Amino acid sequence: MSPPVNAVKSDERLPATVDVVVVGGGIIGCLSAYYLALKRLSVAVIEKGYIACEQSSRNWGWCRQTGRDSRELPLIRESLILWAGLNEAVGGDTGFRRTGLIYVTKDAGVLARWEEWLEKARDYQIQTRLLSGGEARGLLPGCEEAWAGGLHTANDGRAEPAMATAAIAEAARRLGVTLHQSCAARGLETEAGAVSAVVTEKGTLRTRAVLCAAGGWSSLFCRRHELELPQLSVRASVLRTEPAAYIADTPISAPSFGVRRRLDGGYTVGFRGHASFELIPDAFRYIRAFWPGYVQERENIKVKLSAAFFEALARPRHWPLDAISPFERMRVLDPAPDQAVLDLALANLKAAYPVLRDVKVAERWAGMIDVTPDAIPVISPVETLPGFYLATGFSGHGFGIAPAAARLAAELITGDTPLVDPAPFRYSRMIDGTRLVPQTGL
Ligand SMILES: Cc1cc2nc3c(=O)[nH]c(=O)nc-3n(C[C@H](O)[C@H](O)[C@H](O)COP(=O)(O)OP(=O)(O)OC[C@H]3O[C@@H](n4cnc5c(N)ncnc54)[C@H](O)[C@@H]3O)c2cc1C
Repeated sequence: MSPPVNAVKSDERLPATVDVVVVGGGIIGCLSAYYLALKRLSVAVIEKGYIACEQSSRNWGWCRQTGRDSRELPLIRESLILWAGLNEAVGGDTGFRRTGLIYVTKDAGVLARWEEWLEKARDYQIQTRLLSGGEARGLLPGCEEAWAGGLHTANDGRAEPAMATAAIAEAARRLGVTLHQSCAARGLETEAGAVSAVVTEKGTLRTRAVLCAAGGWSSLFCRRHELELPQLSVRASVLRTEPAAYIADTPISAPSFGVRRRLDGGYTVGFRGHASFELIPDAFRYIRAFWPGYVQERENIKVKLSAAFFEALARPRHWPLDAISPFERMRVLDPAPDQAVLDLALANLKAAYPVLRDVKVAERWAGMIDVTPDAIPVISPVETLPGFYLATGFSGHGFGIAPAAARLAAELITGDTPLVDPAPFRYSRMIDGTRLVPQTGL
C-alpha cells in the first residue's frame, strides 16, 4: 500500500570516515545532506528502507504558511523562498508550483479564529488574507458549497512527494553525498563523551557529527543512548485519484475534505484533522508532556487500542550494536489506511464538486505522523552528547517547511549564522520542564 515514489540508486560502499552522517533518508535528511554538501562537507545518508519511504512520500504535498504555529512562521516563510528556487538549484523537478492555498469554512466562529491568527501572522509579513464568502466562491469556481469565508495565501504552494526527495537526493549525490538504502543505523559509538562513529548493519562509519532525521523512529534511536525525546505518532490516511476534470491548482482545505491537484492530473485527497492514535507504551511514558496538546486536539484524534500496543511493548529499548536492531525489523512503516475516513472525504469532495462525480480512486495509503508535545519540531544540537544533532518531530508540517528546516540543521552543525532564530526548536525544551503546548491548530 506504499504510494509510488521515484527510485534512487544506492552507493555500493560505505565510506570509512565522513564529516557528517545523516540518519534517515526522508526529505529532512536528504535536504540537510544537500545543504551540508554545499558547504563542502563529506556526508553519508543512512536509510533503513528506501529514500522517502515513510512520511516524505505519503504526505499531501502542501507547502503552506496558512494557519501555521507562529513559532514556525519565520522558518516557513524562508522555506517558501527556498522552494521557489529549488527545482533550479537541484537541477530536477520537485513538483513545486506556487499555486497559493485556500482554507474555507461555513462556520463564523472558525472565521473569527482565523482573523485572530491573521493578526499575529501580520508581524511575520505573511501575505495571507481573509476572504468573504463571495471572494471564496470566486476563487473556487465549480464548487457548490456556500462558504461563509476563507483564508487565502497567494504565495503558498504545493510539491510532489513522489518526486521531491528523490530529486534532492540525486542533487546531493552530485555534490558528493553517498546514499545507503536498506541500511539501518543501529546506534552510535562515543569517545570521551562525544560522538565518534555510527554503527550500521553494513558497517561502521567514523564521524564527529550525526544528524538524526529519523522521523517517527527518532525517539527510539535516542533512547538507545539514554536521551529522552517525547515523541508519538498518529496515523493519517490519503487517497489519490486517476486523472480527472480540472477544479483548481490551489490546494483546498475544506471542513470535510482536503484536496490537491497533482501534476499527473489526478487529486490527492484526505480529511484534515481526522487522524487516529494507536495507544502504545510511550503514550503512558510521555503522558504528562502530551496531555495539554491532547486536550486541545482531542476532537480530531481517535484513540484506539490495537496490536500496535503489544508490538511496541515487545520492541527492545536497548540492543547490542552487533545484533539486528528494531530498525531492521521494520524497513518501511506502512500502516493500513482508514477506509471509512477516506470514503467520507471522497463523498464530501464529490458533493462539493459535481464535476468530480465519476472520479476513480487509483490508490489508498496511510502514514504515521511523528509529533512532539508542542507540535513544532526539534532542530537542535543535543548538548549532553557533543556531535549529536536532531531534526525531527515535524508534527505533520515537515514537508513544506523542509527547505529552511534542513538549512537550519546544516547551519547548526557547521556553526554558521542560522537563517532564523533556532531557540523555539531547541532540544532542551523537551527535558527542562518547559510547559509544552501547541499554539495554533487551524
Ligand atoms: C498523511 C500525511 C500527510 C501529510 N501532509 C503534509 C503536508 O501536506 N504538508 C507538510 O508540510 N507535511 C505533511 N505531512 C508531514 C510530512 O510528511 C513530514 O513532516 C515530513 O515528511 C517529515 O520528513 P522526515 O524526513 O522528518 O521524516 P520521514 O519522511 O518519516 O523520514 C525518516 C526516515 O528515516 C528512516 N529511518 C528511521 N530510523 C532509521 C534508522 N535507525 N536507520 C536508518 N534509517 C532510519 C525511515 O525509514 C524514514 O525513511 C504529512 C504526513 C503524512 C503522513
